[in-house]
Amino acid sequence: MVDFAAISPHLNIRISPKAKRLALRLDSHAGCINLVIPHKSSMKKAYEFAQLNQSWIIDKIGSLPSPVPFIDEQTLTLMGKEHKIKIEICDRKYTEIKVIDGKIRVKTQLDDPSSRISRFLRKLAETELKKIADQKAAILERKLTGFCVRDMKSRWGSCSTDGRMTLSWRLIFAPYHAMDYVVSHETAHLIHANHGKKFWELCSSLSTDYSTGKEWMRLNGVNLGKYGKSPSHLQKNPEE
Ligand SMILES: [Zn+2]
Repeated sequence: MVDFAAISPHLNIRISPKAKRLALRLDSHAGCINLVIPHKSSMKKAYEFAQLNQSWIIDKIGSLPSPVPFIDEQTLTLMGKEHKIKIEICDRKYTEIKVIDGKIRVKTQLDDPSSRISRFLRKLAETELKKIADQKAAILERKLTGFCVRDMKSRWGSCSTDGRMTLSWRLIFAPYHAMDYVVSHETAHLIHANHGKKFWELCSSLSTDYSTGKEWMRLNGVNLGKYGKSPSHLQKNPEE
């Protein structure tokens, strides 16, 4: 039997009816490498392919940013400002979380409130991103007909010309100008469904610092996935 985990514990096997050839793809959000195997290919051949590319796999996994778990004393950037998580374990029925004076104060009886903190930050992201999106839409004398935040993998947002906007909740961890750029980009799609010259002119006029924000997202956007992952995340095989 072939043991893929021996090549790397971060290797995921994906058997694909559509794929034409063997391929290795980095999933930086999940912190793993997907080995895409065409339906007709043999496991032995796939194993040899992965083995041949083992150093590439190790290099790619090693280049991923360290996870930033939501634990006590962790510092996070929220809307461009540093905040420290302060967890106070106490005897109370419900976990209470507040953002005050550069701190995310958590009062809880849970040993690990990280999923509560994650839910709280997601809600905060939704409120804050919607506020910015509404303001920008108002400049264009348009209204959003729908708004939600999600965990998006391959892009940071989407917006249809009928006014439904979806943004990645992880934008809350980006500097303000980068977050502002992505919201401006999606808002500009209320008017232009393409990425033509007029679209970019409008996007630029809606942004506070368009070129810096765009460049920051290009260079660092992919790293936003590190927030909220546990330190053991990269140790595990994501399929297990
Ligand atoms: Zn776009």
